[in-house]
Amino acid sequence: METGSGRAMIDGYGRRISYVRLSVTDRCDLRCRYCMAEAMTFLPKQDILSLEELGALGELFIARGVTRIRLTGGEPLVRRGIETLIERLGARIGHGLDELTLTTNGTQLVRFAPLLFEAGVRRINVSLDSRDPERFRHITRRGELAQVLAGIDAAKTAGLRIKINMVALNGLNDDEIGDMLAWCTDEGHDLTLIETMPLGDVEGDRSDRYLPLDRVKRELERRFELIPSLARTGGPARYWDVARSGVRLGLITPLTNNFCAGCNRIRVAATGTVYGCLGHDQKVELRDLLRRGGTEAVNAALDRLLAGKPERHRFDIAAAAPATARHMSVTGG
Ligand code: SAM
Ligand code: SF4
Repeated sequence: METGSGRAMIDGYGRRISYVRLSVTDRCDLRCRYCMAEAMTFLPKQDILSLEELGALGELFIARGVTRIRLTGGEPLVRRGIETLIERLGARIGHGLDELTLTTNGTQLVRFAPLLFEAGVRRINVSLDSRDPERFRHITRRGELAQVLAGIDAAKTAGLRIKINMVALNGLNDDEIGDMLAWCTDEGHDLTLIETMPLGDVEGDRSDRYLPLDRVKRELERRFELIPSLARTGGPARYWDVARSGVRLGLITPLTNNFCAGCNRIRVAATGTVYGCLGHDQKVELRDLLRRGGTEAVNAALDRLLAGKPERHRFDIAAAAPATARHMSVTGG
C-alpha cells in the first residue's frame, strides 16, 4: 500500500497523536488472572492483520506524524514471523520514527533479545507481577518464573533498557512491591506499578484485587527516597526518581487520577480495529480498507476516529460490569 505523505493526526480536542500502540496478536502463552479468562477463545487467523498489513499500517502512521510505535498484544513475541515486522519498522527509526518499543511477558526474550537490539529497539517493558515462582504461576496460571528472569537477563545483556510492569494486586502481590523496587534498583531496571483496570470479563470479581497506588506510594516512601520527576510521556504514568539509583518509579493510576487531557495515543487491535480510548468502544475498522480500500480510505477512517476521540475514560472498579467488554489483550495494553 502507498503510504503517501500524510496529514498530522489531531483530535477534536486539539491533542496531537504521536504514539501508537499496535497489537500484533490477541494470543498469549500466559493467562494472567486480571487480563484473561482461563478458557479464553482467540480470534480466527483470517480476522487478524497479516504482518505485511501491520507493517503497511505502521508506515502509514509514520507518514502521519507518529514518532513512537509500541508493539504489544496478547504476547507480541508469540506471533510467528514477528521478526519481519520488528525489522521493517526498526528500519524507520531515524526516518520518521523516533522509537520502536515492545511490551512483553518476557517468556520469549532469550530468543529475541539480540534481534530486538539489532533492529534498533533500545527499551522494552516486561511484565512481572511476582518474583516468587509459585505466586508467579498462580497469577499467570501457567508461567515459569525462571524463563522470564532468564529473558530479562538476556535483554539486559543485549543492551536493552528494561522497565518492569507490575500490576498491583491486593492480597496477591502487595507485600512484594517494596522488594520488587529494591530488586529493580539493584538490576538497574525502572519499575511501573499499574492499578487493575476493569477491562473484559475474567471469570471473577476484580474489585477485591484493586489496590489504590497512592497508598502503595506512601508505604514505599518509608523505605525509598522518591523524588518527583518532571518526566511525562503523554500517557497515564506519573514518575518519581528513586534517589541514588538511576531508576525511575512510575505509577499508572487510571482509577485514582485522570490523565486524559494530555493523551497523545491511539490503539490498534490485531484485527485492524483502531480505538480512540482504552476505556471506550469508539473505533474504526481498518482491516477491509487495508485489504481493498487503499490509502485515502484508511486515512479518511482515521480522521473520523480522531474527530470522535473521547475526551476521557470513565473507569469505575466498583461497577458491576467492566468499562468495556474488550480485554486488554485485544486492545493492546
Ligand atoms: N503480553 C504482554 C505483557 O504482558 O506485557 C503485552 C500485553 S499485556 C495486555 C500489557 C500490559 O497490560 C501488561 O503489563 C499487563 O500486566 C497489563 N494488563 C492486562 N490486563 C490488565 C488490566 N485489566 N488492568 C491493568 N493492567 C492490565
Ligand atoms: Fe498475556 Fe500479557 Fe495478558 Fe498476561 S497480561 S495474559 S502475558 S497478554
